[in-house]
Amino acid sequence: MRRMTSTRFWKLSLAFLASALPTTSLLSANSQAAETVLGHHANGAAKADFSFDNIAAPSSTDAGNLAKVRLLGGQMDSNSPGPECLFDGEVPTDADQPNRNFFFSGGRGGRILVDLGKDIDIKEIRSYSWHPDLRGPQVYELFGASDSADAKMGLRRRESPTDNSWTAIGNVDTRGESKVPGGQYAAAIRPSEGDESLGSYRYLLFDVASTTDQSQFAETFFSEIDIEDGQSYELQKTESRIDTLDIDGKYTIRFDTTETPDLQPWVQNELMPICKLWYPKIVGLLPSEGYSAPTDVTVTFKAYMDGVAYAAGTRITAAGPWYRRQLEGEALGSIVHEMVHVVQQYNRGRGRNRNPSWMVEGVADYVRWFLYEPPQNRPRVNPARANYNDSYRTTASFMDFAAKKYDAELIQKLNASMREGEYTDDLWNKLTGKSAEEIWNEYVATLTK
Ligand SMILES: [Zn+2]
Repeated sequence: MRRMTSTRFWKLSLAFLASALPTTSLLSANSQAAETVLGHHANGAAKADFSFDNIAAPSSTDAGNLAKVRLLGGQMDSNSPGPECLFDGEVPTDADQPNRNFFFSGGRGGRILVDLGKDIDIKEIRSYSWHPDLRGPQVYELFGASDSADAKMGLRRRESPTDNSWTAIGNVDTRGESKVPGGQYAAAIRPSEGDESLGSYRYLLFDVASTTDQSQFAETFFSEIDIEDGQSYELQKTESRIDTLDIDGKYTIRFDTTETPDLQPWVQNELMPICKLWYPKIVGLLPSEGYSAPTDVTVTFKAYMDGVAYAAGTRITAAGPWYRRQLEGEALGSIVHEMVHVVQQYNRGRGRNRNPSWMVEGVADYVRWFLYEPPQNRPRVNPARANYNDSYRTTASFMDFAAKKYDAELIQKLNASMREGEYTDDLWNKLTGKSAEEIWNEYVATLTK
C-alpha cells in the first residue's frame, strides 16, 4: 500500500471523521429491530485471535461454512483473494495483508451476496477487519431474504434492496470508534432485547461503502464474517484444482480451475498444449536487450467475474462465464493475447514515456490474430470507420501491414522501445520514414481498391 505524508494523513483523518458523523446520527434514528455492537483495538493493541470484550472471536464452525458467495456490483481488488476468504474461519496474522482479506477497489464499495443454501434462523452476524489506517473501519448495511421472499438476486448497483423484497437487518459504521482510523475492528449485529433472532434468512446482502470518499485507498480489509445460528458446521473444503505446466524446465504456468471445475478438461486438453507451444514463442517474438520474460505465470479462472480476462504482472485472471461460452470460439486466442501482456512487462519503463494503450493492445492482438490465429480468422477492417489508433484488432491489422511493407522486424523494434518506456508516435517515422497516419492511408488504399 502507498504511504501517505502526515499532512495528507491528517487531512484524510478529518475528512474521515466528518463523514462518520452524519451516518452515526442517522443510525440512532433508525428503527431496525437489531442492535449493533462495535469493538476496536487501536494499532499496536491488536489481538492475534481477534477477540474483543463485547464480541466473540471469529469462529470456524459458524453457518458461514455453508455460504456460497458472489459479488453484486463493485469490483474486487486484484490483490485480494475471492470473497470466499470471508467465510473460511481464518483471519490475517498482521495489520496489512491484502491476500488474507476481501476488499473492493476503486473507492466505491460494492455488494456481497451470500447464499446459505436454506433458511437459517440467525442469532448474530459478526464482521471483522484489520488495517493500519483508512481500510480498517467498516461501513455497511445488511439485508436478508428468506427462500420464499422472492427477493431480486441480480440487483443492479443503483437498485434499492428494500424496493426489491429484501429486508433491512442492520447498519454497521465503526468510524466513530477512534479519532484516527486504523486497527482491528469488529461489529456484531444482534436481535434487539426481547427478540430471539434476527430473522430466518437464506440470503444475506452486505452493501459495503468505502470508509471515506476522500481517498481511493479506503476500501475496508474485511477479514472474516461469521453467521451464528447456535449450531456448528464443518467447513466444506473445496479441493483446489491446479494443473502445472512445465515448459522445457524454463517456464512454469499454473492453471487454477478451483472455482470452475467444469473448465478443467478444456484447460488440460486444449489450453495447456497451446500455452506450451506459444508462451516460449511469444517470448522469442518480443525480445529486448537485457530482458528476460517471467518464468512463473498463473492463469486463474474465476466463477464470478464480468468481462473477459486481464493480466497483472505474471497473473492472468479469466472470467469463467465468458470462457464457458467461448470454448469453441475465442477462448484460446484470448489467453494468447493475455500471455503477450505477461511477456510485455512494459511497466519496467515507468517514469519515462507512458505507452499508449492502443499500442500495447495492438501488439497483443497482432501476435494473436496475425501469428497465432489461422488466416481465415483474421479481422476485417472497415476503412470508412476505422483508424490506426483504434486499438486491438484494427491496430493489429495496421501493424501487420506496416511490418510487411517496411520492416519485418518492426514489431520487435516497437516492443523494445515500449519496454524501455521510450515510445513516442515519432518512432514510426524513425523506423519506416513515414508517420503512422501516412502508413494508415496507404493501408486504407489497399482495402478500398
Ligand atoms: Zn489486452
